[in-house]
Amino acid sequence: MKKISLLGATGSIGLQTIDIVLANPESFQLVAFSTGRNIEKTRELVTQIKPELVSVQQEEDARVLQQEFPHVSFTYGTKGLIEVATHPETTVFVNAVLGSVGLESTLAAIHMSKNIAIANKETLVTAGHLVMAEAKKYNAPILPVDSEHSALYQSMNGENPKAIERLILTASGGSFRDKTRAELQGVTVKDALNHPNWSMGAKITIDSATMMNKGLEVIEAHVLFDMPYDNIDVLLHRESIIHSMVEYHDTSVMAQLGTPDMRVPIQYALTFPDRIPLIGGKRLNLAEIGKLHFQEVDFERYHALKLAYDAGRMGGTILTAMNAANEAAVALFLEEKITFLEIEACIERVMDAHNNILLPDLETILHVDSETRKLVRNMVE
Ligand code: NDP
Ligand code: MG
Repeated sequence: MKKISLLGATGSIGLQTIDIVLANPESFQLVAFSTGRNIEKTRELVTQIKPELVSVQQEEDARVLQQEFPHVSFTYGTKGLIEVATHPETTVFVNAVLGSVGLESTLAAIHMSKNIAIANKETLVTAGHLVMAEAKKYNAPILPVDSEHSALYQSMNGENPKAIERLILTASGGSFRDKTRAELQGVTVKDALNHPNWSMGAKITIDSATMMNKGLEVIEAHVLFDMPYDNIDVLLHRESIIHSMVEYHDTSVMAQLGTPDMRVPIQYALTFPDRIPLIGGKRLNLAEIGKLHFQEVDFERYHALKLAYDAGRMGGTILTAMNAANEAAVALFLEEKITFLEIEACIERVMDAHNNILLPDLETILHVDSETRKLVRNMVE
């Protein structure tokens, strides 16, 4: 029986994690979880799961829920995320909160040597060097939930990491893959939220449309697998059937395939090194699909991907600035305060003005993160 703590329970990854937990009650128990501002869904989950501890974003919501559910402990804010992540009974911590707000709880769970299943890529982008160094020091295994990184992890299983030539991340191209750059001028939030292959939270769906998601994933791959940027490629692959590939020195390429379903990498991170049947999973039928397509990425078309490679190669606080600028700009786009193309313009302006600090400590990272968010808001106002 694995006891699980989950951040971001009301989100897309969070709810799919709960599906897996509830489908396998003999293997998993959810002891603590966090939600944000969706209090109706939080009530529903508390009633259904009966956890020991729940954290919400606002103090007032915690107070109201505490009165409604006296047998559950409620907490809130960043300290609440840390309490959930480090719950004493937890053996596996699933981090599926959105954004760099997940950083401190990840470090806290590492310091308690928890097993960590990480979907929260922003944490690895903003502070990858700190997270990986602490994970090594405290012997806390980090398993990727992101489908590309799960595919890479599975394609490396049992191999000698020194024999790896390159990592190839596949990319669907997002909602606007068939549009030229000029055609991106007038696109709406509704158009951007219409992803062809995956149903995901709003922020990552916009990130997929700008291709910043793939940029964050290139950095995530560099951090998780200690691979130089020159040996990490992105390949457009419309069907999202090959989830990513590892090429070896002898020219062999190992890949992980499957129908697009995030429950597969989530469940793998929970059961590793075992595999269990996926309830309701759709089997891959390549004969039915017939053809798979591949195409080189055009860095002029997908400028955000180039910005991410640039930031990755520089390292330091520019990664935090880039990530925070992206989080802030995407939020403004979703509020219809800036246009789609202004998202990457905001990121580029922040990066151009940034005074980079290499190997920053936690305090510096948190400072750059909050200052960048303010800067983007001011820029737009
Ligand atoms: P969602 O937007 O669907 O969910 C985000 C979750 O985080 C919700 O539970 C939300 O709470 C909570 N949350 C948001 N902001 C805060 C905050 N400031 N404090 C506390 N809780 C907060 O996101 P996804 O599930 O799509 O993505 C989660 C993470 O997983 C991201 O890092 C994303 O990049 C990554 N990921 C997602 C994939 C997917 O398929 N969705 C695939 C690969 C990676 P509430 O809704 O209650 O406000
Ligand atoms: Mg992904």
